[in-house]
Amino acid sequence: MKLINHWIGGASATIAATRTGPVYNPATGEQTGEVAFASSDDVDLAVRTAKQAFETWRDASLTRRQTIMFAFRELVMQHKLDFAKLLTAEHGKTIDDALGEVQRGLEVVEFACNIAHLLKGEYSEQVSTGVDTYTMRQPLGVVAGITPFNFPAMVPMWMYPLAIACGNTFVLKPSEKDPSASQLAAELLAAAGLPGGVFNVVNGDKEAVDAILTHSDIAAVSFVGSTPIAHHIYETGTAHGKRVQALGGAKNHMIVLPDADMELAADAAVSAGYGSAGERCMAISVVVTVGDAADRLLPKMQERIAALRIGPGDGDGIEMGPLVTRAHQQRVLGYVDAGEKEGAAVVADGRGFTVDNHEGGFFVGPTLLDHVTPAMSVYRDEIFGPVLSVVRTEHYEDAIKLVNDNRYGNGTAVFTNDGGAARKFQNEIQAGMVGINVPIPVPLAFYSFGGWKDSIFGSHAIYGPDGVHFYTRQKVVIGRWPDPIHRGVDLGFPQHG
Ligand code: NAD
Repeated sequence: MKLINHWIGGASATIAATRTGPVYNPATGEQTGEVAFASSDDVDLAVRTAKQAFETWRDASLTRRQTIMFAFRELVMQHKLDFAKLLTAEHGKTIDDALGEVQRGLEVVEFACNIAHLLKGEYSEQVSTGVDTYTMRQPLGVVAGITPFNFPAMVPMWMYPLAIACGNTFVLKPSEKDPSASQLAAELLAAAGLPGGVFNVVNGDKEAVDAILTHSDIAAVSFVGSTPIAHHIYETGTAHGKRVQALGGAKNHMIVLPDADMELAADAAVSAGYGSAGERCMAISVVVTVGDAADRLLPKMQERIAALRIGPGDGDGIEMGPLVTRAHQQRVLGYVDAGEKEGAAVVADGRGFTVDNHEGGFFVGPTLLDHVTPAMSVYRDEIFGPVLSVVRTEHYEDAIKLVNDNRYGNGTAVFTNDGGAARKFQNEIQAGMVGINVPIPVPLAFYSFGGWKDSIFGSHAIYGPDGVHFYTRQKVVIGRWPDPIHRGVDLGFPQHG
């Protein structure tokens, strides 16, 4: 059975782990590997290594950092399918979906290739007589990333390419459920010419995370995961003097107005609800219908659900794979039972779903619940599985209020052909990422990604311009070179004359 170890100082670590965790193939339910769990001493070794590497990496020229990022980009392109196979083997998503994940991560690498432009400062000449002012953006030092299971390649790529290109050194703690993609990334960064110690990986669980949050030599922490943990990361990290961005969970609503193109809306709801088996922080989990939209939309959704091909992620033509672990599968099934008990109508039932020759796999079939109300647990909680709830409302105002009253505010979408209704939505809705006839409004790498409310803690969204600001500190320099007009001591504020 393969053992996935840490990556410290430019090579796979040789320290024997005292604790390990299992890695499964979700399509068969079999354990395929073991991952080392870092102790606080292991984390300390990674941080000391990164701290030492920072001493020289911070002074690496912009051209050198860019050259390495370009080389890394080429290597990721060449190894796209290798990444995808690792993702399918440990996460369960389909190969196609996994390739899409790598592509979206790659876009942040490409953004980081442009770092020379992104780190330009500002310059004002002659702010006072003979005095100029300019700004510089400098790296923070050692920064850490803690990432979730659902995008094992892409979410780390939201962080380390920019952090490293900005001149920081990095310690990544990926999800213990699917750790192999981070090993491949580490190997490719080394092959791209990144000096040892600039990028390090420590695997593990809460022990490793808490060692990161309390380590005095870590300047900043980027986190992506569930809301309770994001809150813990933010509170603990900031209490220990760190800059923290912590992105949390979601409950993404898609409002469908009666005038919407129902074919488009049905395609969108089914794709965004069941893609990656609902294990996406931008998955649609609530369809909010207005007026008679539900009666026209639901039959179209049911047709599409019935036609979905579900099976192992590497199977031919498969559109939806299994969930990540048995515990998660059981949790999702529990929510469907609870929804039914609380009065929801189970229109498509994914319980008891099995795949031939993969009876041990962690599958849940696509599930559609109608007549869901805000009081039900299926509505209140993030389920993170292939379970779509339909809440029926009478008026557009009720639908907007429902979205705005929700504790989460990651993504949301409206489906309509009415420009005025769409404009009202974009202005009034309380969420960080808004789609108009687009169900999953994820911005490309040159914008930043982040929600509102309990979907984020901290004031920086991730990647894009916010990413550059998060991984750097601005310094303002006010300079004067001696010249013949120097007029001696002046104790007053300058008058800029
Ligand atoms: P998670 O919060 O359980 O785990 C995330 C990370 O935190 C992992 O590395 C894990 O090892 C660590 N962790 C788990 N429990 C911990 C604890 N008690 N103390 C310290 N660290 C702990 O999340 P997950 O199940 O891996 O991922 C799914 C969640 O991530 C969903 O809630 C999803 O919405 C969210 N997510 C959010 C975004 C976003 O951009 N907002 C993106 C992807 C995923």
